[in-house]
Amino acid sequence: MKKKLKFNSRAIHGGQILDPAYGSVMTPIYQTSTYAQTSPGVHKGYEYSRTHNPTRTNFERSIASLENGNYGLAFASGLAAIDAIVKTLDPGDEIISTNDLYGGSYRLFKQIFEKYDLKFHFVNMENLDQVSNKINNKTKLIWAETPTNPMMNVVDIESISKIAKKNQILLCIDNTFASPYIQRPLELGADIVMHSATKYIAGHSDVVIGAIVVNDEQLYNKLSFIQNASGATPGPMDCFLTLRGIKTLHLRMQRHSENAEKVAIFLRNHDKIGNVYWAGFSDNKNYKIAEKQMDAFGGMVSFIPKDNSFESAKKIAENLKLFTLAESLGGVESLCCHPASMTHASIPPEERKKSGLVESLLRLSVGIEDADDLIEDLNNAIG
Ligand SMILES: *Cc1c(COP(=O)(O)O)cnc(C)c1O
Repeated sequence: MKKKLKFNSRAIHGGQILDPAYGSVMTPIYQTSTYAQTSPGVHKGYEYSRTHNPTRTNFERSIASLENGNYGLAFASGLAAIDAIVKTLDPGDEIISTNDLYGGSYRLFKQIFEKYDLKFHFVNMENLDQVSNKINNKTKLIWAETPTNPMMNVVDIESISKIAKKNQILLCIDNTFASPYIQRPLELGADIVMHSATKYIAGHSDVVIGAIVVNDEQLYNKLSFIQNASGATPGPMDCFLTLRGIKTLHLRMQRHSENAEKVAIFLRNHDKIGNVYWAGFSDNKNYKIAEKQMDAFGGMVSFIPKDNSFESAKKIAENLKLFTLAESLGGVESLCCHPASMTHASIPPEERKKSGLVESLLRLSVGIEDADDLIEDLNNAIG
């Protein structure tokens, strides 16, 4: 068997099929909806671009390689990927998820899928008893994010996967915040990894795209059927941009992680800042788990002004110059977000409070600029 490449080499070459037509070194953008057949049903493996497209195939193979999985599937957005995963379930099935979940996932679960008689439970997944307590014979899927958004709680993937396996429940990890450079959930026992590749995977804030990686062939066939039958697939240009972004994933993640560490420490030492949330603080409750399952701590940091007021948070958000006030994360540029009014506005205030997501919380996606400039910008904005 061919020796598996290490991660950095996989980011450049992993799964890639060299262009059979002209040997172009970069994957061509096959901007076509259909493919010529030489005789009815005789073709080169491609019939129609909702079903397959060579540019998409290379992205799917690349993300599978990065996650160290067997099969990759691309979707038109992260939410389209989540939608496909939930559609593998049947009416009456139950799902256990985290209470500080990405707002869009919560909205999809509650406002779309509950109508189809699926039942969702939201628990604090740092506490594994809360997961076990909700399991019954209808539970078919456990859905986790780690680190969580925006509270940066770390969930123990390996322990949850053991609980899931024992009860024959699938475990899906939304790996958007970490990226496969930092953690590879399939290696820790998860069944499905899902990405909003819009974020770190593509990495340049220029595309909306999603992905799923699995090891099990039957599960892959089920998801692949839904991908084609429901049709939420990305176009070839978006797959090309994502492949281009992936070539520097390892370099970007390294710098994101270094910069975020400096920013997190600066904020923690600032006398006008209260709690700071970052997965890499050694006094975090689940630091031991973070150290075990993550190879770096990523670029996401949340914090609360010391006076815990929305006014102070608003002032900081308005005064930042280098950080752009915007939704999303994971691009090369630094962003600041106010989750309560932006990314998490679709979660009711009572639910938000349960996870500690207060009105004064700000979330930073620390980019790959010079850390000194980012810190100076924050220092000026805090005043
Ligand atoms: C952005 C995001 C999503 C949704 O992905 P889209 O590409 O915006 O559809 C899902 N999960 C997490 C953690 C995200 O940050």
